[in-house]
Amino acid sequence: MIQEAIIRYLRKHRQESLSPKAVLFDMDGVLYDSMRFHAQAWYEVATLHQLTSRLEDFYMFEGRTGESTINELYQRTLQRDATVEERQAIYKEKADLFNTYNDGTPMTGAAEVLKEVEASQLRRLVVTGSGQHSLIDKLNHTYPGHFNREKMVTAFDVRYGKPHPEPYLMGLRKADAKPNEAFVVENAPLGVEAAVAAEIFTIAVNTGPLPDQILLDAGADLLYPDMKSLANDWRRIMALAKSTRLKEYAD
Ligand code: CA
Repeated sequence: MIQEAIIRYLRKHRQESLSPKAVLFDMDGVLYDSMRFHAQAWYEVATLHQLTSRLEDFYMFEGRTGESTINELYQRTLQRDATVEERQAIYKEKADLFNTYNDGTPMTGAAEVLKEVEASQLRRLVVTGSGQHSLIDKLNHTYPGHFNREKMVTAFDVRYGKPHPEPYLMGLRKADAKPNEAFVVENAPLGVEAAVAAEIFTIAVNTGPLPDQILLDAGADLLYPDMKSLANDWRRIMALAKSTRLKEYAD
């Protein structure tokens, strides 16, 4: 199944082979078990402002900028974009509420994935839409030795949020890697779309409540139910990534 996925990727993106150098990790829902707090904070603030939403909407919006999420809620409720003031107020309320809920719990199995990636001698980068100022300190505390400040893409670096490929294209530049030299680990449909649009081999990990099919429809090359099972398969994925040549599978 892994090899089929690799061949499918190579055909689709007209590459002869993969040449692993770097892994680009999304953060919320991949490295931290924080998406439920984001979703809960969004849902409560939206409801307080009488904006129409359901809790699961925020798992579908995951990866968008705050601005785009708020405009979507205004459009569906009031058929207009939010004003700058409305946007700033709602975003601040949501961020404050998220910070009171968030307990910083690492995602189960993420440390094992990082260890495997390190053992396979690949660079590790974070590509996130999050704009928390102390992000690198938090990452260094939870996952010491894996990430550095220069090799990160955050809300401050990009103009467009996911599903635009920009965050992952910037991640490739910072990793000094071509699309067929990198892997993305993502949990959100829009994040998968962004990574696929950047032509990177994309591994989805379904750590949230959405059906698997949504991540597959977004274009995920491989799908795992959690980070632990990805860690268990990592060596096999790398071995096949390094050995599979498209010309040997000509049809
Ligand atoms: Ca995420």
